[in-house]
Amino acid sequence: MLLAGGTVIDVDGMRVADVRVGADGRVAAVGPALAAVGAESVLDCANTFVVPGGVDVHTHMHLPVGAVRVSDDFDTGTRAAAIGGTTTVIDYVTAYRGEDPFHALATWRRWAEPACVDYGLHMTFTERVAERVIAGCVEAGVTSFKLYMAYPELLQVDDDVILEVMQLATRHGGLVTLHCEDGGAIEALRRQALAEGRTGVMEHAKTRPAALEAAAVERAAALAEAAGASLYVVHLSSAPALAAVREARDRGVDVLAETCPQYLYLDTARLAGPDGDSFVCTPPLRDPWHVEELWHGLATGAIHTVATDHCPFNVADRRAGLRARPNGAADFTEVPGGLPGIETRMGLVWEGVTSGRITAEDWVRLCAEAPARAFGCWPEKGNLRVGADADVVVWDPQRRQSLAARALHMAVDHSPYEDVVVTGWPSLVLSRGDVIARDDRYVGEPGRGRYLSRRARS
Ligand code: MN
Repeated sequence: MLLAGGTVIDVDGMRVADVRVGADGRVAAVGPALAAVGAESVLDCANTFVVPGGVDVHTHMHLPVGAVRVSDDFDTGTRAAAIGGTTTVIDYVTAYRGEDPFHALATWRRWAEPACVDYGLHMTFTERVAERVIAGCVEAGVTSFKLYMAYPELLQVDDDVILEVMQLATRHGGLVTLHCEDGGAIEALRRQALAEGRTGVMEHAKTRPAALEAAAVERAAALAEAAGASLYVVHLSSAPALAAVREARDRGVDVLAETCPQYLYLDTARLAGPDGDSFVCTPPLRDPWHVEELWHGLATGAIHTVATDHCPFNVADRRAGLRARPNGAADFTEVPGGLPGIETRMGLVWEGVTSGRITAEDWVRLCAEAPARAFGCWPEKGNLRVGADADVVVWDPQRRQSLAARALHMAVDHSPYEDVVVTGWPSLVLSRGDVIARDDRYVGEPGRGRYLSRRARS
Protein backbone atom coordinates (compact mmCIF):
# COMPACT_ATOMS: atom_id res chain seq x y z
CA MET A 1 0.00 0.00 0.00
CA LEU A 2 1.16 3.53 -0.78
CA LEU A 3 -0.07 6.37 1.43
CA ALA A 4 0.39 9.18 -1.06
CA GLY A 5 0.63 12.93 -0.77
CA GLY A 6 0.04 13.39 2.95
CA THR A 7 2.02 15.55 5.33
CA VAL A 8 4.25 13.14 7.21
CA ILE A 9 5.24 14.03 10.77
CA ASP A 10 7.75 11.97 12.71
CA VAL A 11 11.21 12.15 14.24
CA ASP A 12 12.53 13.41 10.88
CA GLY A 13 10.21 16.40 10.92
CA MET A 14 7.16 17.54 9.00
CA ARG A 15 7.16 17.30 5.20
CA VAL A 16 4.95 16.25 2.30
CA ALA A 17 5.90 12.65 1.51
CA ASP A 18 4.56 9.26 0.51
CA VAL A 19 4.81 6.27 2.81
CA ARG A 20 5.11 2.78 1.35
CA VAL A 21 3.83 -0.03 3.56
CA GLY A 22 5.67 -3.24 2.77
CA ALA A 23 4.14 -6.71 2.58
CA ASP A 24 6.07 -7.54 5.77
CA GLY A 25 4.06 -4.95 7.73
CA ARG A 26 6.97 -2.54 7.95
CA VAL A 27 7.62 0.86 6.46
CA ALA A 28 9.35 0.14 3.14
CA ALA A 29 10.01 3.66 1.89
CA VAL A 30 9.31 7.28 2.76
CA GLY A 31 9.89 10.05 0.26
CA PRO A 32 8.40 12.57 -2.11
CA ALA A 33 6.42 11.29 -5.09
CA LEU A 34 7.11 7.55 -4.84
CA ALA A 35 5.89 5.70 -7.92
CA ALA A 36 3.34 2.95 -7.35
CA VAL A 37 4.82 -0.51 -7.81
CA GLY A 38 2.89 -3.34 -9.47
CA ALA A 39 -0.57 -3.91 -8.01
CA GLU A 40 0.11 -1.70 -5.00
CA SER A 41 -3.00 0.11 -3.79
CA VAL A 42 -2.60 3.88 -3.55
CA LEU A 43 -4.46 5.89 -0.94
CA ASP A 44 -4.70 9.62 -1.55
CA CYS A 45 -3.70 11.27 1.72
CA ALA A 46 -3.81 14.87 0.52
CA ASN A 47 -4.96 17.27 3.25
CA THR A 48 -4.18 14.78 5.98
CA PHE A 49 -1.29 14.17 8.34
CA VAL A 50 0.39 10.78 8.16
CA VAL A 51 1.87 10.01 11.56
CA PRO A 52 3.16 7.09 13.63
CA GLY A 53 0.48 5.27 15.62
CA GLY A 54 0.01 6.59 19.13
CA VAL A 55 1.80 4.88 22.03
CA ASP A 56 -0.14 4.94 25.31
CA VAL A 57 2.20 3.84 28.06
CA HIS A 58 -0.17 4.01 31.02
CA THR A 59 -3.32 1.88 30.93
CA HIS A 60 -5.30 -0.38 33.25
CA MET A 61 -7.50 -2.90 31.49
CA HIS A 62 -9.36 -5.90 32.93
CA LEU A 63 -8.15 -4.81 36.37
CA PRO A 64 -10.13 -5.85 39.47
CA VAL A 65 -10.39 -2.97 41.94
CA GLY A 66 -12.04 -3.92 45.23
CA ALA A 67 -15.47 -5.38 44.50
CA VAL A 68 -15.56 -4.17 40.88
CA ARG A 69 -13.46 -4.35 37.73
CA VAL A 70 -12.48 -1.68 35.24
CA SER A 71 -15.08 -1.79 32.49
CA ASP A 72 -12.71 -2.24 29.54
CA ASP A 73 -10.92 -5.51 28.96
CA PHE A 74 -8.04 -5.83 26.52
CA ASP A 75 -10.43 -6.49 23.63
CA THR A 76 -12.76 -3.51 24.03
CA GLY A 77 -10.04 -1.19 25.29
CA THR A 78 -7.65 -1.81 22.41
CA ARG A 79 -10.40 -1.59 19.75
CA ALA A 80 -11.23 1.84 21.13
CA ALA A 81 -7.53 2.71 21.25
CA ALA A 82 -7.17 1.84 17.57
CA ILE A 83 -10.19 3.90 16.53
CA GLY A 84 -8.69 6.90 18.33
CA GLY A 85 -5.26 6.47 16.72
CA THR A 86 -3.33 4.52 19.36
CA THR A 87 -1.62 1.35 18.12
CA THR A 88 0.59 0.45 21.08
CA VAL A 89 -0.35 0.25 24.75
CA ILE A 90 1.65 -0.61 27.84
CA ASP A 91 -0.50 -1.83 30.73
CA TYR A 92 0.43 -2.08 34.40
CA VAL A 93 0.74 -5.51 36.03
CA THR A 94 0.49 -5.42 39.82
CA ALA A 95 2.21 -7.99 42.01
CA TYR A 96 0.40 -7.68 45.33
CA ARG A 97 2.15 -8.33 48.64
CA GLY A 98 2.95 -11.98 49.01
CA GLU A 99 2.25 -12.69 45.33
CA ASP A 100 4.92 -14.08 43.00
CA PRO A 101 5.51 -11.33 40.40
CA PHE A 102 5.89 -13.96 37.67
CA HIS A 103 2.48 -15.34 38.59
CA ALA A 104 1.04 -11.83 38.27
CA LEU A 105 2.79 -11.43 34.91
CA ALA A 106 1.32 -14.71 33.67
CA THR A 107 -2.15 -13.56 34.75
CA TRP A 108 -1.82 -10.32 32.75
CA ARG A 109 -0.39 -12.16 29.75
CA ARG A 110 -3.54 -14.28 29.75
CA TRP A 111 -5.85 -11.28 30.21
CA ALA A 112 -4.07 -9.45 27.38
CA GLU A 113 -4.45 -12.21 24.78
CA PRO A 114 -7.57 -10.59 23.20
CA ALA A 115 -5.68 -7.32 22.57
CA CYS A 116 -6.16 -5.88 19.09
CA VAL A 117 -3.06 -3.68 19.10
CA ASP A 118 0.48 -4.48 20.18
CA TYR A 119 0.99 -4.32 23.91
CA GLY A 120 3.71 -4.35 26.51
CA LEU A 121 3.51 -4.73 30.27
CA HIS A 122 5.05 -2.81 33.16
CA MET A 123 5.54 -4.56 36.52
CA THR A 124 4.36 -3.00 39.79
CA PHE A 125 6.01 -4.10 43.02
CA THR A 126 4.33 -3.55 46.38
CA GLU A 127 7.16 -4.83 48.56
CA ARG A 128 10.92 -5.53 48.48
CA VAL A 129 12.05 -7.78 45.60
CA ALA A 130 15.07 -9.93 44.93
CA GLU A 131 17.48 -9.08 42.13
CA ARG A 132 16.60 -12.29 40.28
CA VAL A 133 13.02 -11.00 39.97
CA ILE A 134 14.15 -7.78 38.30
CA ALA A 135 16.50 -9.73 36.05
CA GLY A 136 13.73 -12.20 35.18
CA CYS A 137 11.31 -9.42 34.30
CA VAL A 138 13.85 -7.77 31.99
CA GLU A 139 14.45 -11.17 30.42
CA ALA A 140 10.68 -11.43 29.82
CA GLY A 141 10.61 -8.03 28.10
CA VAL A 142 9.27 -6.14 31.11
CA THR A 143 11.84 -3.36 31.45
CA SER A 144 9.91 -0.87 33.58
CA PHE A 145 8.95 -1.14 37.23
CA LYS A 146 6.33 0.87 39.06
CA LEU A 147 6.29 1.79 42.69
CA TYR A 148 3.70 3.74 44.67
CA MET A 149 4.45 6.42 47.24
CA ALA A 150 0.73 6.43 48.15
CA TYR A 151 -1.98 3.95 49.21
CA PRO A 152 -0.25 2.53 52.33
CA GLU A 153 -2.79 -0.26 52.83
CA LEU A 154 -2.28 -1.93 49.49
CA LEU A 155 0.48 -0.51 47.35
CA GLN A 156 2.81 1.98 49.04
CA VAL A 157 6.47 1.16 49.63
CA ASP A 158 9.01 2.96 51.76
CA ASP A 159 12.09 4.82 50.59
CA ASP A 160 14.41 1.87 51.23
CA VAL A 161 12.47 -0.26 48.74
CA ILE A 162 12.32 2.58 46.21
CA LEU A 163 16.07 3.11 46.43
CA GLU A 164 16.86 -0.59 46.07
CA VAL A 165 14.51 -1.14 43.13
CA MET A 166 16.02 1.92 41.44
CA GLN A 167 19.53 0.48 41.89
CA LEU A 168 18.54 -2.97 40.66
CA ALA A 169 16.54 -1.64 37.72
CA THR A 170 19.47 0.51 36.65
CA ARG A 171 21.84 -2.44 36.87
CA HIS A 172 19.59 -4.46 34.56
CA GLY A 173 18.71 -1.72 32.09
CA GLY A 174 15.25 -0.99 33.48
CA LEU A 175 13.41 2.22 34.31
CA VAL A 176 11.45 2.94 37.51
CA THR A 177 8.12 4.74 37.23
CA LEU A 178 6.71 6.29 40.37
CA HIS A 179 3.29 7.35 41.59
CA CYS A 180 4.32 10.49 43.44
CA GLU A 181 2.01 11.51 46.27
CA ASP A 182 2.86 11.54 49.97
CA GLY A 183 0.63 8.65 51.03
CA GLY A 184 1.16 8.96 54.77
CA ALA A 185 0.12 12.60 54.97
CA ILE A 186 -2.80 11.97 52.61
CA GLU A 187 -4.10 9.15 54.80
CA ALA A 188 -4.10 11.50 57.79
CA LEU A 189 -6.07 14.12 55.86
CA ARG A 190 -8.58 11.50 54.68
CA ARG A 191 -9.13 10.16 58.20
CA GLN A 192 -9.67 13.70 59.48
CA ALA A 193 -12.16 14.50 56.71
CA LEU A 194 -14.25 11.41 57.41
CA ALA A 195 -14.12 11.92 61.18
CA GLU A 196 -15.38 15.48 60.72
CA GLY A 197 -18.20 14.41 58.43
CA ARG A 198 -16.67 15.91 55.29
CA THR A 199 -17.50 12.99 53.02
CA GLY A 200 -18.39 14.51 49.62
CA VAL A 201 -16.23 13.92 46.56
CA MET A 202 -14.71 17.42 46.66
CA GLU A 203 -12.81 16.10 49.68
CA HIS A 204 -11.02 13.73 47.33
CA ALA A 205 -9.18 16.74 45.88
CA LYS A 206 -8.83 18.59 49.19
CA THR A 207 -7.19 15.64 50.93
CA ARG A 208 -4.66 15.10 48.12
CA PRO A 209 -3.21 18.63 47.74
CA ALA A 210 -0.68 19.51 45.06
CA ALA A 211 1.90 20.31 47.75
CA LEU A 212 1.98 16.61 48.69
CA GLU A 213 2.46 15.62 45.06
CA ALA A 214 5.37 18.06 44.76
CA ALA A 215 6.92 16.83 48.01
CA ALA A 216 6.82 13.27 46.71
CA VAL A 217 8.40 14.26 43.38
CA GLU A 218 11.21 15.97 45.31
CA ARG A 219 11.77 12.88 47.44
CA ALA A 220 11.63 10.58 44.41
CA ALA A 221 14.18 12.71 42.60
CA ALA A 222 16.48 12.66 45.62
CA LEU A 223 16.23 8.87 45.76
CA ALA A 224 17.00 8.62 42.04
CA GLU A 225 19.99 10.90 42.52
CA ALA A 226 21.29 8.82 45.41
CA ALA A 227 20.71 5.58 43.48
CA GLY A 228 22.32 6.90 40.30
CA ALA A 229 19.07 6.06 38.53
CA SER A 230 16.69 7.65 36.08
CA LEU A 231 13.13 8.31 37.15
CA TYR A 232 9.81 8.43 35.28
CA VAL A 233 7.02 10.28 37.10
CA VAL A 234 3.59 8.98 36.08
CA HIS A 235 0.49 11.18 35.77
CA LEU A 236 1.99 14.49 36.86
CA SER A 237 -0.99 16.72 37.66
CA SER A 238 0.10 20.00 39.20
CA ALA A 239 2.30 23.06 38.77
CA PRO A 240 4.31 22.56 41.99
CA ALA A 241 5.07 18.98 41.01
CA LEU A 242 6.22 20.19 37.59
CA ALA A 243 8.43 22.78 39.29
CA ALA A 244 9.96 19.95 41.35
CA VAL A 245 10.71 18.03 38.14
CA ARG A 246 12.40 21.09 36.61
CA GLU A 247 14.44 21.72 39.74
CA ALA A 248 15.69 18.14 39.90
CA ARG A 249 16.57 18.16 36.22
CA ASP A 250 18.42 21.46 36.62
CA ARG A 251 20.74 19.84 39.12
CA GLY A 252 21.37 16.91 36.81
CA VAL A 253 18.87 14.26 37.87
CA ASP A 254 17.44 12.37 34.90
CA VAL A 255 13.70 12.80 35.47
CA LEU A 256 11.08 12.09 32.83
CA ALA A 257 7.52 13.25 33.42
CA GLU A 258 4.19 12.09 32.05
CA THR A 259 0.87 13.90 32.22
CA CYS A 260 -2.62 12.86 31.10
CA PRO A 261 -5.38 14.61 29.12
CA GLN A 262 -7.63 14.88 32.17
CA TYR A 263 -5.11 17.22 33.80
CA LEU A 264 -4.92 19.27 30.60
CA TYR A 265 -8.68 19.77 30.24
CA LEU A 266 -10.54 19.27 33.51
CA ASP A 267 -10.39 20.99 36.87
CA THR A 268 -11.65 20.65 40.44
CA ALA A 269 -14.98 22.31 39.66
CA ARG A 270 -16.10 19.02 38.08
CA LEU A 271 -16.12 17.39 41.51
CA ALA A 272 -18.75 19.88 42.69
CA GLY A 273 -21.38 18.84 40.12
CA PRO A 274 -24.14 16.24 40.55
CA ASP A 275 -21.95 13.73 38.69
CA GLY A 276 -18.83 14.68 40.65
CA ASP A 277 -18.11 11.02 41.39
CA SER A 278 -17.54 10.48 37.66
CA PHE A 279 -14.50 12.77 37.91
CA VAL A 280 -12.69 11.02 40.75
CA CYS A 281 -9.17 10.11 39.66
CA THR A 282 -5.80 10.09 41.40
CA PRO A 283 -4.00 12.44 41.53
CA PRO A 284 -7.17 14.50 41.65
CA LEU A 285 -8.21 17.19 39.21
CA ARG A 286 -6.58 20.50 40.17
CA ASP A 287 -7.57 24.16 40.20
CA PRO A 288 -7.63 25.76 36.72
CA TRP A 289 -4.30 27.60 36.99
CA HIS A 290 -2.41 24.31 37.01
CA VAL A 291 -3.83 23.41 33.61
CA GLU A 292 -2.04 26.18 31.69
CA GLU A 293 1.20 25.40 33.52
CA LEU A 294 1.02 21.80 32.33
CA TRP A 295 0.44 22.87 28.72
CA HIS A 296 3.45 25.15 29.06
CA GLY A 297 5.41 22.14 30.34
CA LEU A 298 4.44 20.19 27.22
CA ALA A 299 5.51 22.99 24.89
CA THR A 300 8.89 23.47 26.57
CA GLY A 301 9.76 19.78 26.88
CA ALA A 302 9.58 19.80 30.69
CA ILE A 303 6.92 17.08 30.37
CA HIS A 304 7.99 14.24 28.08
CA THR A 305 4.90 12.16 27.43
CA VAL A 306 1.12 12.22 27.45
CA ALA A 307 -0.44 8.90 28.49
CA THR A 308 -3.96 8.23 29.72
CA ASP A 309 -4.01 6.27 32.98
CA HIS A 310 -7.05 4.72 31.27
CA CYS A 311 -9.03 3.17 34.14
CA PRO A 312 -12.76 3.27 33.35
CA PHE A 313 -15.62 2.41 35.68
CA ASN A 314 -19.31 2.50 34.86
CA VAL A 315 -21.48 5.01 36.67
CA ALA A 316 -23.27 2.38 38.77
CA ASP A 317 -19.95 1.07 40.08
CA ARG A 318 -18.87 4.60 41.01
CA ARG A 319 -22.22 5.39 42.67
CA ALA A 320 -22.23 2.12 44.62
CA GLY A 321 -18.98 3.30 46.16
CA LEU A 322 -20.43 6.69 46.86
CA ARG A 323 -23.38 5.19 48.77
CA ALA A 324 -21.20 2.85 50.75
CA ARG A 325 -21.96 4.40 54.15
CA PRO A 326 -24.69 2.64 56.17
CA ASN A 327 -26.98 5.69 56.05
CA GLY A 328 -26.52 6.03 52.28
CA ALA A 329 -24.41 9.16 52.71
CA ALA A 330 -21.58 9.93 50.33
CA ASP A 331 -18.11 8.63 51.13
CA PHE A 332 -15.48 9.89 48.73
CA THR A 333 -13.00 7.25 49.85
CA GLU A 334 -15.23 4.46 48.47
CA VAL A 335 -15.52 5.70 44.87
CA PRO A 336 -13.36 3.65 42.50
CA GLY A 337 -11.02 6.25 41.00
CA GLY A 338 -9.98 6.49 37.37
CA LEU A 339 -11.20 7.89 34.07
CA PRO A 340 -11.68 6.51 30.56
CA GLY A 341 -9.27 7.99 28.01
CA ILE A 342 -7.59 5.45 25.74
CA GLU A 343 -9.71 6.46 22.71
CA THR A 344 -9.63 10.24 23.19
CA ARG A 345 -5.97 11.00 23.94
CA MET A 346 -4.75 11.73 20.41
CA GLY A 347 -7.76 13.93 19.65
CA LEU A 348 -7.56 15.88 22.90
CA VAL A 349 -3.85 16.56 22.61
CA TRP A 350 -4.35 17.57 18.96
CA GLU A 351 -6.66 20.31 20.27
CA GLY A 352 -3.49 21.77 21.77
CA VAL A 353 -2.13 22.06 18.24
CA THR A 354 -5.21 23.77 16.83
CA SER A 355 -5.29 26.16 19.80
CA GLY A 356 -1.62 27.04 19.26
CA ARG A 357 -0.32 25.73 22.60
CA ILE A 358 1.94 23.07 21.07
CA THR A 359 3.11 22.23 17.55
CA ALA A 360 2.06 19.25 15.46
CA GLU A 361 5.61 17.91 15.90
CA ASP A 362 5.20 18.20 19.68
CA TRP A 363 1.98 16.20 19.40
CA VAL A 364 3.75 13.31 17.65
CA ARG A 365 6.71 13.46 20.02
CA LEU A 366 4.55 13.51 23.17
CA CYS A 367 2.04 10.86 22.07
CA ALA A 368 4.23 8.44 20.09
CA GLU A 369 7.97 9.03 19.84
CA ALA A 370 8.94 9.87 23.43
CA PRO A 371 6.86 7.11 25.05
CA ALA A 372 8.25 4.53 22.60
CA ARG A 373 11.78 5.65 23.39
CA ALA A 374 11.28 5.78 27.17
CA PHE A 375 9.88 2.26 27.32
CA GLY A 376 12.14 0.37 24.97
CA CYS A 377 9.98 -0.16 21.89
CA TRP A 378 11.86 2.30 19.70
CA PRO A 379 12.54 2.38 16.77
CA GLU A 380 9.92 -0.19 15.75
CA LYS A 381 7.19 1.93 17.34
CA GLY A 382 6.73 5.70 17.40
CA ASN A 383 8.25 6.66 14.05
CA LEU A 384 7.90 6.06 10.32
CA ARG A 385 11.49 5.43 9.30
CA VAL A 386 12.16 2.57 6.91
CA GLY A 387 12.06 -0.70 8.85
CA ALA A 388 9.73 0.55 11.58
CA ASP A 389 6.46 -1.31 12.13
CA ALA A 390 3.89 0.21 9.77
CA ASP A 391 1.73 1.48 12.62
CA VAL A 392 0.36 4.50 10.81
CA VAL A 393 -2.43 6.95 11.48
CA VAL A 394 -3.93 8.98 8.66
CA TRP A 395 -5.11 11.99 10.62
CA ASP A 396 -7.85 14.15 9.16
CA PRO A 397 -7.54 17.61 10.71
CA GLN A 398 -11.02 18.56 9.46
CA ARG A 399 -12.87 15.60 10.88
CA ARG A 400 -15.19 16.47 13.76
CA GLN A 401 -15.70 13.93 16.50
CA SER A 402 -17.97 14.07 19.53
CA LEU A 403 -16.38 12.80 22.73
CA ALA A 404 -19.74 11.89 24.27
CA ALA A 405 -19.90 8.33 25.58
CA ARG A 406 -22.48 7.28 22.96
CA ALA A 407 -20.15 8.42 20.14
CA LEU A 408 -17.14 6.49 21.45
CA HIS A 409 -16.21 2.81 21.67
CA MET A 410 -14.78 2.30 25.12
CA ALA A 411 -16.90 -0.07 27.23
CA VAL A 412 -18.01 2.60 29.68
CA ASP A 413 -21.26 4.49 30.09
CA HIS A 414 -19.97 7.99 30.74
CA SER A 415 -17.43 10.38 29.28
CA PRO A 416 -15.50 13.11 31.09
CA TYR A 417 -15.85 15.11 27.83
CA GLU A 418 -19.58 14.63 27.23
CA ASP A 419 -20.10 18.04 25.60
CA VAL A 420 -16.78 18.25 23.77
CA VAL A 421 -16.47 18.00 19.99
CA VAL A 422 -12.89 17.85 18.72
CA THR A 423 -11.75 18.72 15.20
CA GLY A 424 -9.10 16.24 14.09
CA TRP A 425 -9.53 12.46 14.20
CA PRO A 426 -8.13 9.41 12.35
CA SER A 427 -9.66 8.45 9.03
CA LEU A 428 -7.51 5.32 8.75
CA VAL A 429 -5.33 3.39 11.20
CA LEU A 430 -2.79 0.70 10.34
CA SER A 431 -1.03 -1.69 12.69
CA ARG A 432 1.93 -3.64 11.24
CA GLY A 433 0.51 -2.84 7.81
CA ASP A 434 -3.02 -4.13 8.54
CA VAL A 435 -5.85 -1.64 8.25
CA ILE A 436 -7.44 -1.96 11.70
CA ALA A 437 -9.67 1.12 11.92
CA ARG A 438 -11.47 3.03 9.22
CA ASP A 439 -13.95 5.86 9.62
CA ASP A 440 -14.60 5.22 13.27
CA ARG A 441 -14.95 1.45 13.07
CA TYR A 442 -12.58 -1.30 14.14
CA VAL A 443 -12.04 -3.48 11.07
CA GLY A 444 -9.08 -5.64 12.13
CA GLU A 445 -9.01 -9.25 13.24
CA PRO A 446 -9.91 -9.84 16.90
CA GLY A 447 -6.97 -10.59 19.18
CA ARG A 448 -4.36 -9.66 16.56
CA GLY A 449 -2.19 -7.66 18.98
CA ARG A 450 1.26 -9.01 19.78
CA TYR A 451 3.13 -8.94 23.05
CA LEU A 452 6.06 -6.53 22.91
CA SER A 453 9.19 -7.82 24.53
CA ARG A 454 10.73 -4.48 25.40
CA ARG A 455 14.36 -3.45 25.74
CA ALA A 456 16.11 -0.72 27.68
CA ARG A 457 15.19 2.91 27.09
CA SER A 458 16.73 4.52 23.99
MN1 MN B 1 -2.40 4.30 36.86
